[in-house]
Amino acid sequence: MALRQVRIIGDEILYKKCKPVKEVTPRIQQLIDDMFETMYENCGVGLAAPQVGVLRQIVVIDVEDGDQYLLINPEILEEEGSQTGQEGCLSVPGKAGVVTRPDRVRVRAYDEHMEPFILEGEGMLARAICHECDHLKGELYVSHVEGELQDVEDLEEEE
Ligand code: ZN
Repeated sequence: MALRQVRIIGDEILYKKCKPVKEVTPRIQQLIDDMFETMYENCGVGLAAPQVGVLRQIVVIDVEDGDQYLLINPEILEEEGSQTGQEGCLSVPGKAGVVTRPDRVRVRAYDEHMEPFILEGEGMLARAICHECDHLKGELYVSHVEGELQDVEDLEEEE
């Protein structure tokens, strides 16, 4: 496994749409392993392939609920309720902003064997799924922020 460089806001690859994965080749498996390693190294709760410069529909998530999730070609089928809270992104370092997201989502995706499955998430997991699926469409959370983006340092001082 290897760490990959995280692309930062302003990098044009973050604004492009990703292509679906047709087959998990050894190269794609390596990418998935590297994405998990890169996410954990940077203390992130999710990472999408374009954030490491690859325009493929692959997302990894770990919101510390005891599971790690790999979503290949994810498609959100249903959204329910809403939650408003702070969000951040490894591609927007040192910043956070308030975003309203669905409170529950139902997503269909493929695993590393290209077997389809359904994942239902609520709360933090629902937020992460929506945030990461936006990356695959070339969207950053900053376009959904209510009010101003804040410096994480300032937020910590307020606490
Ligand atoms: Zn992000």
